[in-house]
Parts: sequence; structure tokens; C-alpha cells
Amino acid sequence: KQLANEGVRNLQPYQAGKPIEELERELGIKDIVKLASNENPLGLSSKVRAALQDTLSGLARYPDANGFYLKSKLAKKFGLQTSQITLGNGSNDVLELVARTFVSAEHEVIFSQHAFVVYPLVTQAIGAKGIAVPAQDYGHDLDAMLAAITPKTRMIFVANPNNPTGTFLSTEALQDFIAKVPENVLVILDEAYSEYVAEADRAPSFAWVDSYPNLVVTRTFSKAYGLAGLRAGYAVSHPEVADLMNRARQPFNMNSLSLRAAEVALDDEDYLQQSVAVNAAGMEQLVAFCESANLPYIPSQGNFLTIEVGDGAADIYDKLLHEGVIVRPVAGYGLPRHLRVSIGMPEENEAFITAMRKLLD
Ligand code: PMP
Repeated sequence: KQLANEGVRNLQPYQAGKPIEELERELGIKDIVKLASNENPLGLSSKVRAALQDTLSGLARYPDANGFYLKSKLAKKFGLQTSQITLGNGSNDVLELVARTFVSAEHEVIFSQHAFVVYPLVTQAIGAKGIAVPAQDYGHDLDAMLAAITPKTRMIFVANPNNPTGTFLSTEALQDFIAKVPENVLVILDEAYSEYVAEADRAPSFAWVDSYPNLVVTRTFSKAYGLAGLRAGYAVSHPEVADLMNRARQPFNMNSLSLRAAEVALDDEDYLQQSVAVNAAGMEQLVAFCESANLPYIPSQGNFLTIEVGDGAADIYDKLLHEGVIVRPVAGYGLPRHLRVSIGMPEENEAFITAMRKLLD
């Protein structure tokens, strides 16, 4: 234990749930409804499934270390240079990579209260100091985050929409913020849930990297593209930033299956549209329930809704589990009175609503 760096020694292990099959066995329940990890309820697209089948025969070979085809497709779709892209084993890998590339033990890293758990994790693992800035209406207080910058600050994480609150920052607010951050401080704009946001409201963040070389935008294939189990994510940045990250990257951090799946998913517009539509309908369903049950919730632009269920949140979580519905407690994110519910298929949302109504009676 003494040999681990101090940051790692003080880390709390990531709270991963038990495998669903194991939970089902323990509870004696079949077909638990899982609304706990912001996954895509549609399951794998049939086009991706077929492409994976085709990829199997090549698996004795190493993957393409530079992700040539995936980068080319991303560049074409979003009007980027391939030299601006860094691929990762999920966007978590990219978040870790950016911290490892730019942050050292003497630095400070700023994020918001109720921020995604991986930000403090990657910060502390390096031995750097994480600065959690109090939230405003559950979301980022950008002015307070600017005020928290010191000569030691090297990086600021901003998630838009944020997990686990679903809060969203306008294009104007974000642009104003980025323009005010000193050039020697990197802004990591984590857009894991960006596809769920109405196009008109989305910031032109990829275009901003041309004007702000200290901006890194991250996205994932885990949510709207439905590839969480395959692990595929990427960063878009100034080419010099991408070059440095690609030097620090493990050469085969994306495997052949995830590379191919991401290429195909990127072209699968029908699946993406369906993901977004199912999410919008499910969000309406959950919001209508909260309103009818007088349960406060945090308005969300993601694929989840964080609901204030009160002091008994841990107990309600447990009771829901015994009703066969698993959601996510968010006490570890500083929200002990809330539960985060991922949007599922209509019948899955209904299972949650029915179980909640039973508990509230
Ligand atoms: N950022 C945010 C804000 C997230 O909520 C998640 C997923 N929980 C991720 C990044 C990471 O997703 P992945 O590693 O699957 O790309």
C-alpha cells in the first residue's frame, strides 16, 4: 500500500454494480429492468451486429493502431482533419489520456460539484489536486469555476449535458467561459450526451477548437450510438494537442471490433434518429409521472432523469430493486436525496413508474 502514489491510495473504488444475472439470482427475480447506467435501450443495431460478425475472422491480427477508417469517417462527417482526432477505449479512456498527457502532481484540476466521477478519479490517480466548485441549480457555476483558477490550475472539466444532473449550458454561456479561460489551462468539454440535445441548442464545439487550442471536446459511442459494451470514444482538439495525446496513448486502445462497430454506427442514421426519438418519448413519460406524483426532478437534456425522492433515497433504491427495477443512487455525487433513472423503452419506464407508485402509496 505504501508503494502506491498518494492520490491512488486516497481513491475510492469506482462503484460498479453487480452483474445483472448475479442480482437476478440473489433476488430470485427474472428479467430485472436496468435503468442504471444510461445505456441505449434499443440494444445493438442490426447493421453493427452484421459488421461485428464480419470482423471476427480478422481477430487473430492486431487492430489498426491508428484507427485509420474510423478517423477518416469522423473527419468526413464533422468536417475535421484526422490529425485533430484522438480515439479511446470509450471516452473514459480519452479523459484519462488527456489528464495523463497534460497534468502532473503539482497541478490543480477544476470540475463542478455533482460532476462525473471519472474527473476526480483521473485527477487523483496522477496525484494532482481536484477542486470541486459548488454547483448552481445543480449545474455548472461557470463564473465560480473561472474564479477558482489559480496559477496551479492546468485543466477544467465541463460536461454538457452533465451527468448525473442532466443540466445543460447554452452556447453563449460556454463560449463566454472558454474565451475567459487562460490559454495555459485546458478546457475538457465532455459531450457524452450531445446527440440527445436538439441540434439548434448544441454548441458548435468542434469548430471552436480552431479558435481555442486549449479546448478538447470528447464524445462517445456508448450512449445514442448504443455501443457501451464495445468501448469507443474520441476527442477533437487542435492537432498539436491530439499529437501529444496520441504519443501518450496505448497503440491498441481500441480493438478491431470496437473500431468497426463505431465506423458502422456513425453511418447508421436511422438508429441514431430512433435512439433520440425513444429517448424524447421516455423523458416525457418520466417527467409526466414526476409531475403527477409531485416529485421534484432536475430537468435533463440527457438520456436520464434525476429525481428527488427524499431522505429515504437509499431505501427506495433498495425497494425498487426488490420490485425488479434497478436505478442509480447518486449519494456519491453529493445528491443523497435523489435517484438517477435512465430512460428505457416505454414498458421499462412503465415498470419503474408502477414500482414507484406502489412504494409511494
Ligand atoms: N462522460 C460522461 C459525462 C458520462 O456520463 C459517461 C458515461 N457514464 C462518460 C463520459 C463515459 O462514457 P464512455 O467511457 O462509455 O464513453
